[in-house]
Amino acid sequence: MGVPFADLQLQYQNIKGEIDGAIAAVIRDNAFIRGPYVDAFEREFADVAEAKHCISCANGTDALYLAMAALKVKPGDEVITTAHSWISTSAMITHAGATPVFCDTDGVTFTIDPRAIEAAITPRTVGIIPVHFYGQPADMDAIMAIAAKHKLWVIEDCAQAHLARYKGRQVGSFGVAATYSFYPGKNLGAMGDAGAIVTNDDGIAEHMTMLARHGGLIKHQHQIEGINSRLDGLQAAILSAKLPHLPAWTRARQEAANVYDAGLNQIEDVTVPEVASGRSHVYHLYTIRHPRRDTLAAHLSANGVQTAVYYPTVLPLLPAYSRFQHRPEDFPNAAGDQGKVLSLPMFAEITADQQAQVIDLIKAFH
Ligand SMILES: *Cc1c(COP(=O)(O)O)cnc(C)c1O
Repeated sequence: MGVPFADLQLQYQNIKGEIDGAIAAVIRDNAFIRGPYVDAFEREFADVAEAKHCISCANGTDALYLAMAALKVKPGDEVITTAHSWISTSAMITHAGATPVFCDTDGVTFTIDPRAIEAAITPRTVGIIPVHFYGQPADMDAIMAIAAKHKLWVIEDCAQAHLARYKGRQVGSFGVAATYSFYPGKNLGAMGDAGAIVTNDDGIAEHMTMLARHGGLIKHQHQIEGINSRLDGLQAAILSAKLPHLPAWTRARQEAANVYDAGLNQIEDVTVPEVASGRSHVYHLYTIRHPRRDTLAAHLSANGVQTAVYYPTVLPLLPAYSRFQHRPEDFPNAAGDQGKVLSLPMFAEITADQQAQVIDLIKAFH
């Protein structure tokens, strides 16, 4: 039998008619680049994200680059972000021309510790990129207060947190811009690479649109030097077909998380994910901590249950950042977590029986 980590094939089978119809329509209309399907998805996603503008782009990594380029970061600027994320977050700070400054996580929610942000601010700091990690919002009240006090911008990395809420308010609506990934495995996934930025700022929206489209809004009128970062029509139509299902898929993930919580929270050595008060978690990943993570993962794998580690090395300790000469002691929570985190199978269609298999195997592990 076995339990997969995720099951994109099953999701497709459940809405096959809608997806196949969307793909056929794009081919029929020859609408591969720009065009009505991209425009429609941008409008629909702006609505869902409760934002004035949605600028689609090729992937969530480009979204981060475009947002920072539109904010005109420059060499010498420092941008603060979390030690525990996917490398896009920090690499795009560098590619946009600034220097990433890493902060530890809070030890509970896997998100950036606002106290560490305060301590990392220098006269060169221009912005903060919190990541709503694994699907749980970062502490936005504290982060926005620090940003206001020091006159810094905030870009929210929402790649793992579609529809998550902080004190009732949608993530992505706090900062000057927010970036999304629609990588196939994300809570809203395309059938290839895709991404978007949302913002309420008209000027930044226009600048990001130009940057992503060769530096111009009208063909052959290049106002600036841009890049080519487009969402293609096929991906846009697929995303539009999936978007109406996202609320139900999100609830299904949250219900599956409740089942795991109830089944696992009494087991010695297992720490289930904790959700801070006022925050809704959308469980892109359901991640436990376990002191013998690798042997537990091997035990589950030997019994047909797929798990994954996000991420085996936290950002400041990667070879890519050896120039900063960071040590694990600089990030006690994040560096401590990297040997303990284990993400369990999590997808909207996971069955009670599959979850029971996972829970029973973890109970039987000594
Ligand atoms: C997936 C992800 C990204 C990048 O998205 P891509 O679409 O894969 O480029 C950025 N940040 C975080 C936190 C992510 O999980």
